[in-house]
Amino acid sequence: MRELNRLELLGESVRAALEALATAAPGWLSAAFPTVVLGEWAERYGPRINSWHIPAARTKRERLGAVFAADAYAVCSAVWDTRTPAWVREVEHVELLRQVLVQTTVIDGAGTDGRVRLRLREKPDGIPPGALRLASPYDPDARWGSHGQREGRDVFWLGYTAHLTESCRPPDTTDGLPRGPNLITDVHTTDAGAPDLTATTGIGQRLDARDLVPAEHYLGAGYPSARLVQEAAARGTTMITPLLRGGSHARTPGAFGQDAFRIDWTARQATCPQGKTSSGWYPCRQHGQDAIVVEFARDDCRSCPVRAQCTTAKRGFRSLSIHPDPALRACLRTARATQRTSAWERKYALRAGIEGTINQALDVTGLRRARYRGLPKTRLQHAYSAAALNLIRLDAHWHSPAQHPRHTTRLIGLYTQLVP
Ligand code: SF4
Repeated sequence: MRELNRLELLGESVRAALEALATAAPGWLSAAFPTVVLGEWAERYGPRINSWHIPAARTKRERLGAVFAADAYAVCSAVWDTRTPAWVREVEHVELLRQVLVQTTVIDGAGTDGRVRLRLREKPDGIPPGALRLASPYDPDARWGSHGQREGRDVFWLGYTAHLTESCRPPDTTDGLPRGPNLITDVHTTDAGAPDLTATTGIGQRLDARDLVPAEHYLGAGYPSARLVQEAAARGTTMITPLLRGGSHARTPGAFGQDAFRIDWTARQATCPQGKTSSGWYPCRQHGQDAIVVEFARDDCRSCPVRAQCTTAKRGFRSLSIHPDPALRACLRTARATQRTSAWERKYALRAGIEGTINQALDVTGLRRARYRGLPKTRLQHAYSAAALNLIRLDAHWHSPAQHPRHTTRLIGLYTQLVP
């Protein structure tokens, strides 16, 4: 799938809709628009939009955006005219054009000829949330996703996310014989914009249904919540995962995590390490769950001598997001205390094995590229990839020389005795 910026997306959506109409409703198209307009469009929307040079100058881009928007508006107005047969509105790319038009443009008054004038949508106009925002006129399920940083740069990608789960065993240190290959036990595909957290419950339920409930489930930092940890425990699974460390600054040595704040539930107030009391207490819903957001006064935080240890928020004051449920708070406290120990960190290092599996899936099965359009077919592609990896691993296990005892150096032997 090609990556398109907002301007290219709008232009390519017009192109895709005109191509679809020229195929499905050529008679209607030629009757609805003058030949001279169709000739202009044939020239403008002949090649793919991102195959020609989009102007770099802001004013030229805005002008081009206004042209794309006017064309999109003209097509949609004609299609949704009451005299147009209803089936024309059912052409998929026409409906996608309507959505892209709404998501990328706003009405900017009327021109001197009385026609509606449109311009590209900017931040102050309101941008639709990523979960709803179309990213391609050819695949309505694809979304933009982001995942932390790599080499100091934010990582973005377009399309889908594959969530892989595999069996894992600690390295065998007794007889040097492998006890069996690690196999992929679940593969789940979401659009790239869906948070990892939304995949966790489904993964647990499918493992349960397949009678593959693990005693310990190692997960990345995006997958857990206190409630999910509790639900997994009810199924007999301990989640080994870095659970809600209390904001990005909490990872900085010496920073004030949530545990540094005293909460007075009766007075509905929190007291910070500097003895300041909170100025706001707001019950709300976060990620579909009840939460309380506590805020401190901007004036207190601005002049605070230890502010660097407390917050990096641009708005200038510290806030906390806390669970109203005492059982979940206790779960979080226990988890945070456990995760500070080196024993836990050593244990959690086992999760790094999944990175090798992901790399194998990328290299061997080409998982990085969706071969089909739409979520259902991409899910099928990922399921085939997982099955292929399992077959490769079983084949390697049954037929490779790895069946024989591994050569172990004396130094490794000494080290494994020291580190159980
Ligand atoms: S930054 Fe604000 S909340 Fe944090 S310790 Fe200082 S006064 Fe308290």
